[in-house]
Formats: sequence, structure tokens, C-alpha cells
Amino acid sequence: MKIICIGRNYDAHIRELNNEVPEEPVIFIKPDTALLRNNNPFFIPDFSNEIHHELELVVKIKKPGRHIPVAFAKDYYDEVALGIDFTARDVQNKLKAKGLPWEKAKGFDHSAVVSKFIPLSDLNSGENKGIDHCFFSLQKNGTSVQEGCTAHMIHSVDQIIAHVSEYFSLRIGDYIFTGTPEGVGPVQTGDQLIGILAGQTMFDFSVR
Ligand code: MG
Repeated sequence: MKIICIGRNYDAHIRELNNEVPEEPVIFIKPDTALLRNNNPFFIPDFSNEIHHELELVVKIKKPGRHIPVAFAKDYYDEVALGIDFTARDVQNKLKAKGLPWEKAKGFDHSAVVSKFIPLSDLNSGENKGIDHCFFSLQKNGTSVQEGCTAHMIHSVDQIIAHVSEYFSLRIGDYIFTGTPEGVGPVQTGDQLIGILAGQTMFDFSVR
């Protein structure tokens, strides 16, 4: 399986990092060794002094496809999770300054937290109105540090699937990280991170 990630998909996050709004989705890939699941702890790697959390909705692909039209994208997923795209911001800034690929900053071991999955029907409770209008948040040590709503995505989940599948064949079990809203920030040893999607606690793990 592969982990496909979308960058710069929320205006307010683009502004907080002083990036340009892209004309089409920014895509990068994490290897399967980046996965961190089952509320296992995240260990800060030695090569970075600035690991940031990026809270993101994650979609699981349920059937193979390529060149998928936007109108048919909904046929390719029926479960979502909440994830963290852990980013070594100091490493990424150095790579970006030189125009180099981001892999060392984005694809390192355990940099892709993926929670349990829930059916799309769970995104219709309370103020949540489906995958294109659902709320998610991250608590760090009991304080909310990131809050997002998928209605603020620049490219919707279906548009992302259509675009990604022009370049990469999708397979059953692939994950797509759909970009982070504003509020990214550092984590440090001892932090406890809890992710909430549409009112459900999705993950709860510690940083060590
Ligand atoms: Mg991200």
C-alpha cells in the first residue's frame, strides 16, 4: 500500500507558512514504513528539533482505479480516519530553500499517524454534514490546537482522488491524507495528542 498526501489544501494554513496557493493539488508520498497506528507512541527522531503536527482527514481507497472522473470518485471510498502528517519542519525548510524533495522531512518512520476508520455515515451527526462538511480537531495536553472543517478544503476529496489517479494508480488499502488546516505547531516529549472527528475520539497517543 502507499500513503498519498496532499499539501496546501486549506487557505489559512498556506498563509501561516507563507506559501503560495497552488493551481493544482501538491502531492507527495510517504512509504508504508511511515505508518503509526493503534495509538502507539510517537518517538521524536534524532535528526529534528522541530517536529510539527498536521492534523488531516484520511481516506481509505476501497477499489482499484486510475483516471477516475470526479463524478465517480465516491465509488472508491467509504471509510475515513483522522491522521497526523508529522513533519520535520526544520528539515523541510532547508530542503525547500534548496528546491529539493521533501521525503526526509515527511516520510520518515512513523510520520503518518492513522486512527481507526469509521464509515462515511458517521460524518452526519450534529453540525457535521458529510465528508465535504465535517469538523475535526486536535487536542494537545487537553487544549485544542488545531480545528478544521473539510468545507474549507481548496480541493475536495473527490477532486483529490480524480487528480491523484491521473498520476498514480490507486489500489485497495491505499491511504490519502487530504491536507491540514491552520494551527500546525510543534510537539515535544511528554505531549498527549487526541484527535476528534465528527464528535468521535479517533486517536489518543503520547509523544516520547
Ligand atoms: Mg500535511
